[in-house]
Amino acid sequence: MNENIYDITIIGGGPAGLFAGFYAGMRGAKTKIIDVLPELGGQLSLLYPEKLIYDVAGFPNVKAQDLVNSLIKQIEPFNHSVCLEEEVISFEKKEEYFTLTTDKEIHYSKSIIIAAGNGSFQPRRLNVEGNEDLERKQLHYYIKDMNAFSNKDVVICGGGDSAVDWALMLEEVASSVTIVHRRPQFRAHEHSVNKLHESSIVIKTPFVIDSLNQANDKMESITIINPKKEIEETIPLDHLIVNYGFSSSLGPIKKWPLEFKGLSILAKTSTETSTPGIFAIGDISTYEGKVKLIATGFGEAPTAVNNAIHFINPTERLQPMHSTSLYE
Ligand SMILES: Cc1cc2nc3c(=O)[nH]c(=O)nc-3n(C[C@H](O)[C@H](O)[C@H](O)COP(=O)(O)OP(=O)(O)OC[C@H]3O[C@@H](n4cnc5c(N)ncnc54)[C@H](O)[C@@H]3O)c2cc1C
Repeated sequence: MNENIYDITIIGGGPAGLFAGFYAGMRGAKTKIIDVLPELGGQLSLLYPEKLIYDVAGFPNVKAQDLVNSLIKQIEPFNHSVCLEEEVISFEKKEEYFTLTTDKEIHYSKSIIIAAGNGSFQPRRLNVEGNEDLERKQLHYYIKDMNAFSNKDVVICGGGDSAVDWALMLEEVASSVTIVHRRPQFRAHEHSVNKLHESSIVIKTPFVIDSLNQANDKMESITIINPKKEIEETIPLDHLIVNYGFSSSLGPIKKWPLEFKGLSILAKTSTETSTPGIFAIGDISTYEGKVKLIATGFGEAPTAVNNAIHFINPTERLQPMHSTSLYE
């Protein structure tokens, strides 16, 4: 049991959670990061990976995904436990630790840092009969492993950057790729859209999915229909990838036994919440004068970690050694 108890569990792998992970590693804390998404990076990776950020100290500008990659590189030496595609539903205080219940398992931790941003991100799901049974088998909302689609007939739905980029990447491994979008024009970068038109990818616009056609628990084809419902086409496939974007909601967090102000968790300047041992940082937390920026989350992360260490063991220094001295 003891080996399963972590010093610090960080809920959320966005920039605030990742930098808290680095700092926790530097202070020698046994650390776990849990995120509902299949990859780390929070809003930066999911919503604007290609955008340049201009207000991170020390960087005249930095591409959002490059910043995430650097944050991930910074925590690598610590070999933290990282649990992806897991949503933290609730937590409970036991005598000497907390239990955190996710949709997959129970985790144990002496302290918790909540870095949950605007809440859990969930993909906007396809609203067509039969979709739930097919999820993860033939219907996907993320691409984790390109090889799963090698030599397969794949249909992608969506018209934004991710849908177009995925289609172009899949063209290299799949037998065939068809992209279906409800509008005549794609919303992706012009350069990517030009590449799409020059590729072997079959483009079906403006069309939406009308039905998933199954036989023996297997999806064999989809039927697409144009908005005026005059033209119907059936496309045989092995896999359907839906990229309709993501929405975030506090979800289970709203019910957590903490003090809230609006949709944010109320925290002290020490980042401690109304429950001792639980700290909140980044966009999820608020206090008087709070400004919700990446830079703010980066500042709050060391405060939360040092206070968590002090909470776990009050004889430990709150004020840490400087990193320059630690690595000498
Ligand atoms: C288009 C756009 C441009 C922006 N540009 C800038 C900019 O230029 N400069 C700037 O400073 N800020 C910018 N921001 C804001 C910035 O992205 C946020 O301030 C920052 O992402 C907050 O970081 P975070 O780590 O607190 O939360 P997030 O990045 O939101 O990460 C939170 C993570 O927690 C996970 N999570 C939530 N609830 C749970 C749960 N119950 N269980 C498991 N995981 C959970 C989420 O899935 C998410 O991955 C921009 C935002 C957008 C949308």
